[in-house]
Amino acid sequence: MSKEIISSTFPSPQHNHSECVDAALGEAERLCRIRDLRLTPLRKRVFELIWQSHRPVTAYELLDRLVQDGRRAQAPTVYRSLEFLTECGLVHRVESMNAYVGCNQPSRGHEVGFFICEACGDVAELADPALSSSVTKGAKQLGFTVHSRLIEVRGTCRACTAIKTDDPKRML
Ligand SMILES: [Zn+2]
Ligand SMILES: [Zn+2]
Ligand SMILES: [Zn+2]
Repeated sequence: MSKEIISSTFPSPQHNHSECVDAALGEAERLCRIRDLRLTPLRKRVFELIWQSHRPVTAYELLDRLVQDGRRAQAPTVYRSLEFLTECGLVHRVESMNAYVGCNQPSRGHEVGFFICEACGDVAELADPALSSSVTKGAKQLGFTVHSRLIEVRGTCRACTAIKTDDPKRML
C-alpha cells in the first residue's frame, strides 16, 4: 500500500478524453503483461467502455453496450470481467452507485474513496493513508472489527459549481 495521498482530479469539461483512454489502456496492457494476466478481448472491451467517461457505469449499461457491439454477452460474463478488472485494480467499484469507474493509478495499490459530483456524475478518487489509519486507530480504541471503510463524498465539482454561480437558471 502506498503511503502517499493518491487522488485523481475532476477533468475539465474541455479536456481531450481520448488521451485519458489511451493512457488507461496502455497502462492496463502494461500491467497485465508484467503480472502475466490475460486482458482478453472481452475484458479489454469492458475496460474501454468503463473508460468512455469519468462517470461510473453499471454492469447493465455495460451489458447493453456489448449487445450493441453485436456480442452475445450475458450478465455473468460481464460480472466476471468486472471482477477481473477490479481485482487487478484497473477499475474500482463505487458502492453507493453500484457502478464501476476506471482507476488512473492502477500500478499503485491503494484503498480508495471517492468524491462524486451530483451534477455531472463524474467521480474523482481520494486515497489518503492518513484517513485509513485514523479509522484503524478509532476502531482499535472501540474494539471494533472493520469490514469496510467506504468513503464516498457527494457534492459538486469545480466545473459544475462554476456553471451554477454563472447562471443559476442553467441548472434548473
Ligand atoms: Zn478524460
Ligand atoms: Zn484507483
Ligand atoms: Zn460536476
